Amino acid sequence: MIRFDVLTLFPGIFDGYLRHSLLDDAIRAGHVQVELWNIRDWSQDKHHKVDDRPYGGGPGMVLMAPPVVEAVEAVQAKATPPGQVILLTPAGIPLTQQLVRRLAEYPRLVLVCGRYEGFDERIRDILQPLEISIGDYVCNGGEVPAMVIIDCVIRLVPGVLGDQQSLLEESHMVPGEVEYPQYTRPRVYRGHAVPEVLLSGNHAAIAAWRRQQAEHRSRRRRQLLEDTSEEWKPMAPQQKEKVERVTETNRTY
Ligand code: SAM
Repeated sequence: MIRFDVLTLFPGIFDGYLRHSLLDDAIRAGHVQVELWNIRDWSQDKHHKVDDRPYGGGPGMVLMAPPVVEAVEAVQAKATPPGQVILLTPAGIPLTQQLVRRLAEYPRLVLVCGRYEGFDERIRDILQPLEISIGDYVCNGGEVPAMVIIDCVIRLVPGVLGDQQSLLEESHMVPGEVEYPQYTRPRVYRGHAVPEVLLSGNHAAIAAWRRQQAEHRSRRRRQLLEDTSEEWKPMAPQQKEKVERVTETNRTY
């Protein structure tokens, strides 16, 4: 069982996410617990203000230290163990599968989501958190990064995945290594056939093909990462078949 305490100014963002698929199942089965806390509840201001203008000038607003520090301390005191405090920030250490594995060993993680221009530095000084970034880009808030952490970590909690075997061959289990291509029915789709070897029933040949494909993909990915100019090459235009379909589940926001 792992417990996540999420401190945010927008707890509602998590509602849909917590009620679907694997996470919903894991919560119902008692493998995962998620507690949402609104930082605003620890504001000492009569208008529940939690941010203010930066000293020294500059754009935007900064999250004030008192409500954040006091919220974290109060939440930590609500259960034992107090848990590892994680500050979501683009300046943190990058989230990798190796870090995800370490996080999955904690019984309790306290995730603090920033907003606006980020945190008053004294929040770091006082709480001494583990600072994590989900990548070298800037999101509007720490809520999506917190969901990314929850999403990756719960997969590793025993009992959450139906088949633990699927973890063994997954991408990034070995740093830099990614998974082989996967196929399911139909055998031929728009002229693209499933590789014959996968239909052969020859387990040794299938394992060898998958190993070779995984190595090829991993090598190709490493080359792409080294040669960043590749990402900007325009993609070949795709031949699109016009498919009109009546759908009852489309939603527009
Ligand atoms: N001014 C900040 C900076 O330049 O580093 C960016 C603030 S960002 C708009 C607001 C909040 O989103 C941050 O405090 C953090 O909690 C979250 N955030 C944004 N990008 C993130 C990332 N790559 N990883 C983790 N958290 C992130």
